[in-house]
Amino acid sequence: MTQTNATPVREVLIIGSGPSGLTAAIYAARANLSPLVLEGQPSSTSDQPGGQLMLTTDIENFPGFVDGLAGPDLMANMRAQAARFGAEFLTTKVERVDFSAQPLRVWAQDPNSGDEVEHMARSVIVATGARSLMLGLPAEDRLISRGLSTCATCDGFFFRGHRIAVIGGGDSALEEAIFLTKFAETVTVVHRRKELRASKIMQDRAYKNPKIRFVWDSVVTDIAGESKVEGLHLRNLVSGEEQLLEVSGVFVAIGHVPNTAVFNGHLDMDESGYLLTVPGTTATKVPGVFAAGDVQDSKYRQAITAAGSGCMAAIDAERWLEAL
Ligand code: NAP
Repeated sequence: MTQTNATPVREVLIIGSGPSGLTAAIYAARANLSPLVLEGQPSSTSDQPGGQLMLTTDIENFPGFVDGLAGPDLMANMRAQAARFGAEFLTTKVERVDFSAQPLRVWAQDPNSGDEVEHMARSVIVATGARSLMLGLPAEDRLISRGLSTCATCDGFFFRGHRIAVIGGGDSALEEAIFLTKFAETVTVVHRRKELRASKIMQDRAYKNPKIRFVWDSVVTDIAGESKVEGLHLRNLVSGEEQLLEVSGVFVAIGHVPNTAVFNGHLDMDESGYLLTVPGTTATKVPGVFAAGDVQDSKYRQAITAAGSGCMAAIDAERWLEAL
């Protein structure tokens, strides 16, 4: 039988351990605020300690690393840097929150005993990130970062001269497809219907691009390749016809979901579930609660922008605590 244990009130509690959470931890720790980071659990592909970068093999666009580095190494470095200044970590996932009064309260399971622990803090930085929607095929776990990607800005460069497929029919899919034509020999957009959901202007751009072709009314039934992507098994939903599309790169662009379910009813969100912050700051509508990284950014979604907003959140929290 589990029980709830309470802990002393902290100055700063950080939820999430991607680039935004860990940058917030570095700044808060260096400001002597002794942050505790609830870093998540490795329970699903992107909702895990270290965030989405744990699924990225090479990062070449994070400034300061001339030769690039692996996503997990970048996250391990950031975590060690935060720990060096006194940040503490708990590998656990937040189960519920109460932001209706001070101190702010967050409940999560103790990773060792399994007991529920009530964490109290004067300020909370929410950095729980977002995750890419995936197709739900077993092959995705095997091939992610091995020809299968969810971010053209991050990985497009590695596909010079390749034949690539992009899955989806929305603005993200077409944006990724257009971007990828800078590198790819051909880009095939595979969409499950005959009409694109994307805006007219993006459709026009995609139709005009000589490297882009479309496969309509088709779904991916499997991804071929054991250790790297070799093709896509497609089924036409109208004719029932099956085909193998030979590609060495696949970008899934069927949307993103922010990891905000636990904050429903506690923090303001837009219609897609992204947390709303006061423009130019990381402040949410709840005094003392700040949001950083992809959880409040559906537009840029980069490690460096997430890290930047994590820094902002720590500074916002520090100033808010000073003013108390
Ligand atoms: P979206 O608009 O929701 O489009 C998702 C696409 O993926 C749809 O075409 C959908 O098909 C398809 N899809 C969903 N689940 C699927 C599945 N399981 N298998 C196969 N296909 C699936 O998402 P988004 O493109 O990421 O865009 C999100 C929001 O950001 C939109 O409001 C968009 O306008 C905006 N955005 C804007 C820009 C820009 O303006 N440059 C760029 C990116 C995103 P159906 O059409 O059949 O539902």
